[in-house]
Amino acid sequence: MSSCNVTVIGAGPYGLAATAYLRASGIEARAFGEPMAFWANQMPAGMCLRSNWEASHIGDPRRALTLDAFRDLKGNHIGKPIPLDRFVHYGLWYQREAVPDVDLRRVTRVEQNGNGLKVTLSDGEQFASRRVVVATGIGPFAYRPKEFLAIPRELASHAVDHRYLNKFRGKKVAIIGGGQSAMESAALLKEAGAEPEVLVREASLNWVGLHARLHRLGPISKLFYSNRDVGPAGISKLVAAPHLFRRFPREFQDKVAYRAIRPAGAAWLRPRLAGVKISLGHKVVEAAEKGSLLQIKLQDGTERLVDHCLLATGFRVDLSLYAFLAPSLLQQLRTVDGFPVLSRGFESSIPGLHFLGKPASWSFGPLLCFVSGTEFAGMELARVVKHSRKATNGNG
Ligand SMILES: Cc1cc2nc3c(=O)[nH]c(=O)nc-3n(C[C@H](O)[C@H](O)[C@H](O)COP(=O)(O)OP(=O)(O)OC[C@H]3O[C@@H](n4cnc5c(N)ncnc54)[C@H](O)[C@@H]3O)c2cc1C
Repeated sequence: MSSCNVTVIGAGPYGLAATAYLRASGIEARAFGEPMAFWANQMPAGMCLRSNWEASHIGDPRRALTLDAFRDLKGNHIGKPIPLDRFVHYGLWYQREAVPDVDLRRVTRVEQNGNGLKVTLSDGEQFASRRVVVATGIGPFAYRPKEFLAIPRELASHAVDHRYLNKFRGKKVAIIGGGQSAMESAALLKEAGAEPEVLVREASLNWVGLHARLHRLGPISKLFYSNRDVGPAGISKLVAAPHLFRRFPREFQDKVAYRAIRPAGAAWLRPRLAGVKISLGHKVVEAAEKGSLLQIKLQDGTERLVDHCLLATGFRVDLSLYAFLAPSLLQQLRTVDGFPVLSRGFESSIPGLHFLGKPASWSFGPLLCFVSGTEFAGMELARVVKHSRKATNGNG
């Protein structure tokens, strides 16, 4: 069986940045995954990024592969907010420049192998790897509330199940949720000629970007806001420093994390929502098939009969949903509420097994849920791997 030093699973922003930083530190790394696949296939066409320009560069050890460099190379064609298709092109360009040899095969198994790990690929190839970095994103964690578990996907689907929303033209669609995904889906559905209604559990909506002026006050803004763009004034600075964030008591971390990433829509969406019915304080208590339609009962006793229900209900990390992790690994992994407990270098309780992206956010804070965390993640991972004994045992 062949062997390698580090295997990176995932070719989204985290996996690509991790591979680039490892290699820049002289560490041999193999990368697997379909570049930018989640963004290209599981986000709605026509969407724009909620994160701003400065927070949307994929971390690069040379600091050369920025959105600005991409725009300058290709012509000035990226608007603000950043359109999804342009961001996907940027990610694919980053991949070609930084990790041109990404292997498109899927990883089907990661299991223990003596002191290291064994990786199995979709075509049956197996190899030993000293370390495995899991950067496979949030796709498998799409959350369906229990009221919808028995409803077929033709009637109630999660937002990640759709690339094109124009198939709902002329249809009545209920959208469950109160965050960016719900609001942007509602705008896109309306623009596609559907009849959306957003059902929001909470009594009010949150918006980000309402105080854009505060970000333009030069050095004063820098005191309160980090260009990582996660969270409001003050919290933004703390979240941008994961090593500091980790030192606070858990209860405080949880509160700050919630405040930083609570459901909220981007302020630039508001004009596009004119004419969309948004019903606040409407919690779903039951859903049932009624012929070809879906009946939704709400806590206030009212009902809706719709052609389709779109669940913009977010993602809940649960490592057992990463089907490639062997059951024996899962049994030994230390987790809290489905998240791995990670130490320096994003290493889990199984030596040599690392997690990046949202699964790392319980240990390193909400920065890790966003593209703006890729620079920190790549640097921290490469630093720790480079200085560990495990990596200096050889490089092949
Ligand atoms: C609608 C929506 C809008 C968002 N908008 C923003 C935004 O504006 N800004 C922002 O920062 N974040 C945004 N996010 C969050 C975004 O999902 C994460 O920031 C980002 O995807 C994290 O990147 P990642 O590399 O962890 O995962 P992903 O980009 O999901 O990449 C996962 C990779 O893993 C690969 N993979 C999975 N399983 C396997 C396997 N078994 N074998 C091999 N490869 C595998 C996939 O092919 C893919 O390459 C948004 C999320 C959603 C759902």
